[in-house]
Amino acid sequence: MIIPVLQENNFKMENKMTDYSKLEKEVDAQADLIWKVASNVWEFAELSYEEVKSSALEAEALEKNGFKISDRGIGGLDTSWIATWGSGSPVLGILVEFDALPGLGNDTVPKQAPAKSGNTNGHGCGHNLIGSTSVGAAIALKNHMEKEKIAGTLRVFGCPAEEMLNGKNYMASDGAFDGLDVCMHNHPMSENTVWNFHSTASIDLLIEWHGLAAHAGAFPWEGRNALHAAEIFLVAANMMREQMLPTARLHYQILSGGLAVNVIPDYAKILVRYRGPSAENILKYKAWLIDMAKGASLSTQTKETVTNLGGIYDCLANDVFAERMTDHMKRYFPIKWTDEEQAYAKAIQKEMGKPEDGLAVNVLPVPTGVEMGGSSDVGDVSWNVPTMGAVYSAWPRHIPPHQWGCTACNGMSIGHKATLHAAKALAATGLDLLTEPDLLKAIRDEFDKRKEGKQYKSLSDSKINPRGQMSDENIKNYECCIHAAMEHFGIKEHKE
Ligand SMILES: [Zn+2]
Ligand SMILES: [Zn+2]
Repeated sequence: MIIPVLQENNFKMENKMTDYSKLEKEVDAQADLIWKVASNVWEFAELSYEEVKSSALEAEALEKNGFKISDRGIGGLDTSWIATWGSGSPVLGILVEFDALPGLGNDTVPKQAPAKSGNTNGHGCGHNLIGSTSVGAAIALKNHMEKEKIAGTLRVFGCPAEEMLNGKNYMASDGAFDGLDVCMHNHPMSENTVWNFHSTASIDLLIEWHGLAAHAGAFPWEGRNALHAAEIFLVAANMMREQMLPTARLHYQILSGGLAVNVIPDYAKILVRYRGPSAENILKYKAWLIDMAKGASLSTQTKETVTNLGGIYDCLANDVFAERMTDHMKRYFPIKWTDEEQAYAKAIQKEMGKPEDGLAVNVLPVPTGVEMGGSSDVGDVSWNVPTMGAVYSAWPRHIPPHQWGCTACNGMSIGHKATLHAAKALAATGLDLLTEPDLLKAIRDEFDKRKEGKQYKSLSDSKINPRGQMSDENIKNYECCIHAAMEHFGIKEHKE
């Protein structure tokens, strides 16, 4: 979906006289808190759904600075919350994430080495910086609004389990983002840009077949083989690829397929993820996959159950919003790295066999019309309210997220500088959104245009999150996906 940038320019940056220096000072005044949050959460390195300490720390930081926690446990997510300050409109949302990844624990050294704490989980996706950036920006904005008597409401969202891709969609289906006028998020990366991408919508189906166990040698005719049902399903699903759009994706994991070779398996379980360009496309292929599961049962005289573990929407781009945020990215980025930091980054690149050109020293042009194969649960937010994210260099170029090198950078001065600068870019964009009705209107007009009259209806079948449907081991294996496509944050896919 490519929509040309709106032409009116009464909200363009060059016509503005706003002085951001006071706000900038407010962010600087929070520098210690920002790094305390980032480094503590980096140390905690808690996995999706288990971000107990990280979530509490960030909620507390906001509470201590005048925000009120109005909700907790949204959509059955124990570590979620909403922190609110201010009154009236506009209502500005800011998203926080805090989950880490298994197996990515690392020391703050430019080589693969275990974390000193012994924690094998690590912030290889930099979500420790997402929280600190958003919390710092929110507190600074609030202090500035108070002093300058700027009207409006700030609402900060503690969003769990991004790496499982199903935190924000459960929060959205529970109405958490209702009433927002506009929303911002942020993500550390290897480049400086904004999140103006159209990502894929996706759905996860957990399919189980129940058959009959029997001695596989002596009485096989007494059994009904659940594994065969899973195999038939997978053959059919793979054939379906011929009828999928080129941008669609299909992945699966076999989670259970029998316990002993001499027993006819009476139970099989697979997890299927389908991704497509839109919610409608997802629903079409979801129905097809469920039919296949039933067909596999009929073929094998087994019985299937299908659990929808949650579905997420595509991310809606917004060129007007992206342009304004990019203006502020250019104000605070690129970061001036020291020679030591560049040497550290190059050492990581060398270890990983990448070009040794260090950390980004530019801001990319506004990405427009970029289709991304990955997905993000920010998609659900972006269909409820115009949403844009700051993306900023916090680890070496060419290094995709979910690597030890990212964990290393996010725990030392590179991550420290990155989150402080990102908080400034976010706060400055927030100030514009609060004080420029024309900008907000232009952003909302584009949002309405991109939605083409469609209404958001959650792709999850239940309002309660699926934690408990899988074992802890499976939860750990249940990897996110957006980051596989992060090469898009390089330059190749830009249409300038
Ligand atoms: Zn990630
Ligand atoms: Zn991430």
